[in-house]
Amino acid sequence: MTDPSTTLQIPAALLPADGRFGCGPSRVRDAQVEALVAASRTLLGTSHRQRPVRALVGSVKAGLASLLGAPEGYEVVLGNGGSSAFWDAAAFGLIERRSAHGTWGEFGAKFAKAAKAPWLRGPAVAEAPAGARTELEVVDGVDVYAWPHNETSTGVAAPVRRIAADGALTVIDATSAAGGIDFDAAEADVYYFAPQKNLGSDGGLWLALVSPAAIERIERIAASDRYVPEFLSLKAALDNSRLDQTLNTPALATLVLLDSQLAWMNEQGGLAWAAGRAATSSSLLYRWAEGVDYATPFVARAEDRSPVVVTIDFDGVDAAAVAKTLRANGVVDTEPYRKLGRNQLRIGTFASVEPSDVEALIACVEHVVAALRA
Ligand SMILES: *Cc1c(COP(=O)(O)O)cnc(C)c1O
Repeated sequence: MTDPSTTLQIPAALLPADGRFGCGPSRVRDAQVEALVAASRTLLGTSHRQRPVRALVGSVKAGLASLLGAPEGYEVVLGNGGSSAFWDAAAFGLIERRSAHGTWGEFGAKFAKAAKAPWLRGPAVAEAPAGARTELEVVDGVDVYAWPHNETSTGVAAPVRRIAADGALTVIDATSAAGGIDFDAAEADVYYFAPQKNLGSDGGLWLALVSPAAIERIERIAASDRYVPEFLSLKAALDNSRLDQTLNTPALATLVLLDSQLAWMNEQGGLAWAAGRAATSSSLLYRWAEGVDYATPFVARAEDRSPVVVTIDFDGVDAAAVAKTLRANGVVDTEPYRKLGRNQLRIGTFASVEPSDVEALIACVEHVVAALRA
């Protein structure tokens, strides 16, 4: 038997203009790469303590505050290490005694694991099976409530809404949501993310929009006798960010790509525009999956379905063979989250993805399925 994924050629007329549909790192637009080329002599390879790079960091901070609709008194803080580093930084510098976590996928669970630090009381966990979510409840003695705005491993989106009114902080993992899902920033104290998803940049950096209450918490814990490693110190990140710097050397190219994307999004119409575009793309996929006999949206409740990470279960068709055939034709990263282990495709419909490319992707999937079934 021949392997159709290595022999099937999808007609060129069906292929998307850009074949990148991953959930991070995700599509980087050509204009961002042009911005990088334009920065090659003036920014790249120059000191991150001097004006050109500090002006760039300042521009990223302003661009984010504008895109996310930062309320009065909120600040943008950044540091090295990506969202994974932020979890450890939060365990050291944001959680006072105990946190509560929504865990309905890999990323929510990873933060809960980081919060099992010996200087904290064990976290309270509100768990739901993959593909669903649950509401967090108010728990006595909890000072941080945390959940992902978008659970990238499963494609479940959850609203950003304060649940406690007792001074506890609302800390939202927005790694794959920031710049793709509209929300009210006043409902969160810390809205943190990394730029390799909707923001179309590279990994390795974390950024957070933080409220005055979160800043007060960071300052208070930093002034206590808790041991905090310098690299994971949110106080050090805050102090450096206020000077348009990072504690240690950042990837300058990541900042240039990010700044370019933020300028583009803000020019196009800001978060409402970007979120609308992602919603258009994801709706095309959900509607298609509901209309064919071999596919269904993985997330059962329509209101939980992510507008930026679309997960589609397949029945009677080998989704891995579909993804492999697509990949052989230059349409990449439609494989499901590796640990989910489902017969599924996962498609990033971030703001950089053209809805017309999503239409083309659907045509390609239909073409491949027809060939696999023949
Ligand atoms: C990708 C992702 C992360 C991990 O981000 P890194 O920058 O690779 O550490 C965390 N949370 C969510 C929701 C993600 O999608």
